[in-house]
Amino acid sequence: MPPAAKPNGGAGPAVNGRAYPFEDHTFDVVVVGAGGAGLRAVVGCSEAGLKTACITKVFPTRSHTVAAQGGISAALGNMGEDDWRFHMYDTVKGSDWLGDQDAIEYLVRNAPAAVYELEHWGVPFSRTEEGKIYQRPFGGMTTHYGKGTAQRTCAAADRTGHAILHTLYGAALKAKAQFFIEYFAIDLMMDEEGACVGVIALKMDDGTLHRFRSHKTILATGGYGRAYFSATSAHTCTGDGNAMVLRAGLPLQDMEFVQFHPTGIYGAGCLITEGARGEGGYLTNSEGERFMERYAPSAKDLASRDVVSRSMTVEIREGRGVGKNKDHIYLHLDHLDPKILHERLPGISESAHIFAGVDLTKEPIPVLPTVHYNMGGIPTNFHGEVLTKIDGDPDAVVRGLMALGEAACVSVHGANRLGSNSLIDLVVFGRAAADRCAATMEPNASHRELPKGAADLAIGRLDHFRNAAGATPTAELRLSMQKVMQSNCAVFRTGEVLDEGKGLIHEVWSGSDDVGISDRSLVWNSDLIETMEFDNLISQAVVTMESAVNRQESRGAHAREDFPDRNDREWMKHTLSWADTDNRRVSIDYRPVHAYTLTNDIQYIEPKARVY
Ligand SMILES: Cc1cc2nc3c(=O)[nH]c(=O)nc-3n(C[C@H](O)[C@H](O)[C@H](O)COP(=O)(O)OP(=O)(O)OC[C@H]3O[C@@H](n4cnc5c(N)ncnc54)[C@H](O)[C@@H]3O)c2cc1C
Repeated sequence: MPPAAKPNGGAGPAVNGRAYPFEDHTFDVVVVGAGGAGLRAVVGCSEAGLKTACITKVFPTRSHTVAAQGGISAALGNMGEDDWRFHMYDTVKGSDWLGDQDAIEYLVRNAPAAVYELEHWGVPFSRTEEGKIYQRPFGGMTTHYGKGTAQRTCAAADRTGHAILHTLYGAALKAKAQFFIEYFAIDLMMDEEGACVGVIALKMDDGTLHRFRSHKTILATGGYGRAYFSATSAHTCTGDGNAMVLRAGLPLQDMEFVQFHPTGIYGAGCLITEGARGEGGYLTNSEGERFMERYAPSAKDLASRDVVSRSMTVEIREGRGVGKNKDHIYLHLDHLDPKILHERLPGISESAHIFAGVDLTKEPIPVLPTVHYNMGGIPTNFHGEVLTKIDGDPDAVVRGLMALGEAACVSVHGANRLGSNSLIDLVVFGRAAADRCAATMEPNASHRELPKGAADLAIGRLDHFRNAAGATPTAELRLSMQKVMQSNCAVFRTGEVLDEGKGLIHEVWSGSDDVGISDRSLVWNSDLIETMEFDNLISQAVVTMESAVNRQESRGAHAREDFPDRNDREWMKHTLSWADTDNRRVSIDYRPVHAYTLTNDIQYIEPKARVY
């Protein structure tokens, strides 16, 4: 139970004659999000003695992290030789040289300790015969700088995220963090100098408004997969934190890089983990051919996700898809020992049965590339501090604001994330952010008065949508947005398709002036919440499309048929995109990629041509 709010909460602004009283809370740190990233930061901040709140719109263990299947990467070397340098090389190569190498070094060097920490907190990892943490091969993970196959992905069967999230929630409760569950964060509060001073949230079950004042606000609100029609992510993945950042006048980074997972179940979008191919699964076309051998002779079915997704799309476009409409591909696991499937992949056996009606011990699973992960997000350094570009300084820290997990762009994944590198990103940087807070803050330090009108943006927006009386239902606008993104900003991109997409997505954005909702209450108003989520999604969809039109090269997940090559001379730089949400305009600028490492223990990894 969250503590009772101070009774002397502000009267709140009156908007259009309607009063919006709010209750006040004061914390050292407020974390928005209770997925793996948010919870790891919550544990660290609480253990450091900082008064820490965690606000979440869903019950913590329902956060999307719970759905992660395949595993978490760390060079433990439990199943053969491994080294953090190999992991670093793979991550830089996977990022197609858009990742910041200082941050990548930080990630991979701290990965083993982060996994052992989870083990000690109680994550029930699968085990080897000798009792060590079991590790499976994953796409793009190699030894000796691309020469051998690494077994680097630690797994708790195919329910790794589930195990991690439950363990972290237990640890957060033990550390006595204060949870505000089913509170929907609407907008940040910023002061006159551009620093973040807290967040405004709506308690969904009773309609009360809450003003959280904090020295540090940490956004760990996850990705925005739901901007697309077919996504492996939960319906709650609407990137609310990213949109709050845009509305605060700050930029998002590298939004054109959207990862498609090769194996979403055809029709349903649910994920079949890459671990399935790690355990020996393979893809075939309508001729029964294992076509990945043609596209990636050495990595084959375990080439990185962008490569496999594109190869599948080419097969389908060239008429070698399977099924009645020749519009998908088969994933075979039917040659594997049913005992292994039962032991290592029990969850996906069930998903294949429920969502595709197949018994995977006997038949192949119909699959299709499906939106899976957002490499882009809120720019941060490796401490989790949010960055913006001011007066030519591309690494200017936004005071009071941090971001983590899929919402953030550190950037360790660059243009393409390797499988199992997200879960490790959550815990390594969740811990780094907490360490930064502990090192730079005094518990219970006094707060300045909140600036007058700090809540105006949030309350004005809430009132606007609550009373929206237009003719278009939110669901219609959302579907139009999802279809445009799916058809015009997917695996294959050309200038023509993207330009058309830009026009269409702007039409949806202006169309949202005509949104109408029917429920005017504030208590469990799912129409209102979904409308605010749609409003969050559409601003991200627009910056994603415009960033994709703008980048005239192919890199990682961003593959342009009209610019098929990677162009390091002109485009080895991060895209920054701002959205002027009042005038519906996007502007674009750049930050340099950090082409240097953190220490002298490893040399900067020079760009290489792509060979698979
Ligand atoms: C099906 C699937 C399988 C995956 N498998 C793997 C894998 O095996 N290995 C791997 O490394 N990665 C995997 N990934 C990716 C990885 O799981 C995610 O990137 C990661 O879990 C995101 O964690 P997060 O903490 O950033 O956010 P999430 O877990 O998405 O949590 C977001 C949190 O923010 C809160 N929130 C959001 N908006 C608001 C708001 N407005 N107000 C209040 N609270 C809010 C939510 O309540 C939630 O608690 C997978 C992803 C999917 C979809």
